[in-house]
Amino acid sequence: VRVRPLTGTETRRGDQQVVHSLGDGAVHVSAARHDATFGFSAVFDAGASQEAVFEGSGMRQLVELAIDGFSCTVFAFGQTGSGKTYTLMGPLAQSETQPASPALLGLMQRSFTCLLEQSRSRGSDLALSASYLEIYNEQVRDLLSPGPPCALPLRWSKTRGFYVENQLSVEFESLEAIVSLLLQGSQRRRTSAHALNRHSSRSHALLTIHIRSRAVSAHPAPGEGWGASACPSKQGTLCFVDLAGSERVKETGSSGELSVEANSINRSLLALGKSWGTCRGSPAGPHRSPVSSSVAPPPAGHCISLLAKPRGKRTHIPYRDSKLTRLLARSLGGSGITLMVACISPSSRCLSETLSTLHYASRARRVTTRP
Ligand code: ADP
Ligand code: MG
Repeated sequence: VRVRPLTGTETRRGDQQVVHSLGDGAVHVSAARHDATFGFSAVFDAGASQEAVFEGSGMRQLVELAIDGFSCTVFAFGQTGSGKTYTLMGPLAQSETQPASPALLGLMQRSFTCLLEQSRSRGSDLALSASYLEIYNEQVRDLLSPGPPCALPLRWSKTRGFYVENQLSVEFESLEAIVSLLLQGSQRRRTSAHALNRHSSRSHALLTIHIRSRAVSAHPAPGEGWGASACPSKQGTLCFVDLAGSERVKETGSSGELSVEANSINRSLLALGKSWGTCRGSPAGPHRSPVSSSVAPPPAGHCISLLAKPRGKRTHIPYRDSKLTRLLARSLGGSGITLMVACISPSSRCLSETLSTLHYASRARRVTTRP
């Protein structure tokens, strides 16, 4: 959980700070009629630096697992303005001529650096490529391919699972190259709609790094040839997901278009919650005491195989509910490892959205998957 600082506007209008970190992964929400403590793996409060979030969230280990061939995913979740994009990318409005201060770089750029360093230090031969998509109104668009954004079809095959047809995947070898792809894509995300802010807060953005590695062994075992000692090639992915704002869109005055948007966002987030929720049987709720955060998680289910084998008509396949969950099917089960960053505002005005984010995160936290 990451709690951003109160913004200038919030401070000026006298908003109360209702969220406090208690240490040891406990976060306390206190306001007039609400008083709840939630337990998580880690809580970063307003004073936490971007570096502290990278080091304390397990992001470095996630990068290493992706190099080892796992499908790793990072989600930033929370209402609009809660700090999702800040956490993933750092403050916006950087351009190529005016790069952001290195101290403010987000999880993505830090992961790229870590990935490239690891690939050098392990002496492994990594082939890296990136793809960048957004899902807006249940339409998948490529953020890297030139030309006006057009919707790409989502397909399924036995060998590949769900994939986006004609999606561009760009190879890169340097930090500069991948950071420039990230900026290019984010720029397209922001300028492809008339209502810029609304657009970026109503769409999900997925940047995926594909890692193919073939470890080169310098010391073959006695009697073994050079060729035989080389490890078989591994394929891992590292996916960064900047989710659409989780807040409920106000129905008042919403045009037809807005309601469609609200529906598809809610469908995505619900499906995501459902596909996780299906993995365990008991209802979700906040941890009432920080101590319970150290209690072992309940027995794990295998999300995706469970969902993919419908038995009887009551069984539902929630990950088919939205394009987002279909694209993330591999991360949500099997060899998937997921880091979920719930972003919240400390302001009293955001109380109900903050509580809903924390409840959702508590539910997600109790789910584990088995390969
Ligand atoms: P979201 O992507 O969730 O809509 P943003 O990442 O755009 O939210 O953050 C909203 C505003 O708050 C931005 O102006 C951002 O710079 C600022 N902000 C968010 N998190 C932090 C933080 N941890 N420290 C300082 N400013 C932050
Ligand atoms: Mg954002």
